[in-house]
Amino acid sequence: MEIVIFGAPGVGKGTQAKILSEKLDIPHISTGDILREAVSSKSELGLQVQEIMAKGELVPNDLMGKVIKERLYKLKDQNGFILDGYPRTIDQVYIFNQICKELNYDNVCLLEIQVPFEVIIERLTKRRLCAECNSIVNVDDSKDRTTCPKCGTKNSLIQRDDDSFDVVSNRLKIYKEITSPILDFYRENNCLKMITINGQQDLNKVNHDIMNELVKVCV
Ligand code: ADP
Ligand code: ZN
Repeated sequence: MEIVIFGAPGVGKGTQAKILSEKLDIPHISTGDILREAVSSKSELGLQVQEIMAKGELVPNDLMGKVIKERLYKLKDQNGFILDGYPRTIDQVYIFNQICKELNYDNVCLLEIQVPFEVIIERLTKRRLCAECNSIVNVDDSKDRTTCPKCGTKNSLIQRDDDSFDVVSNRLKIYKEITSPILDFYRENNCLKMITINGQQDLNKVNHDIMNELVKVCV
């Protein structure tokens, strides 16, 4: 099964993609995770994208194209993928279509998760990552805002560089202007199956809705 998970930053794509990857036994490819790993290991790619990401801007299409081609070609003998963070521009849609043609993926499903922008800003600016156990936590949910509620480690909660208010606003603006037109493009060209899910619900309910819809379209 080939799934593109789509939506604004903070709608819960990463969380749902991880759950689906386990349930459906398909690899999760997150371009954001790939790039963040490159930045922290200071690889050539990392050095090229570090500043762009810190500002919440988009990495150039040709560079992203190389990254994604390499990943998808490596996975070509597996039973599909869940792609999170790509395509994000119309040019990337063309590149992705080309890759799908070459690898004979003709049943790709686009799964869109929708959450209102006001809710996203709340979520992202309160989101923290535990450096110890890798959990994503919301600092509103924990009485002690410096201790990880999952593993109990003190002072382990860090904020992603691009989750500050200004950068979140920029990421949402870019999503609205550059990324979301992809949905109209796909609707007009009618070239893949599309599902829309309400992401403003408990994460288990969101997952439940996704599974229900996937069964209907991706058989
Ligand atoms: P989010 O969807 O929450 O903004 P991601 O983790 O998907 O975050 O991506 C983080 C950053 O990585 C983006 O703001 C952008 O700089 C870069 N990035 C990820 N995917 C792409 C892509 N397909 N094209 C260009 N830049 C990308
Ligand atoms: Zn933890």
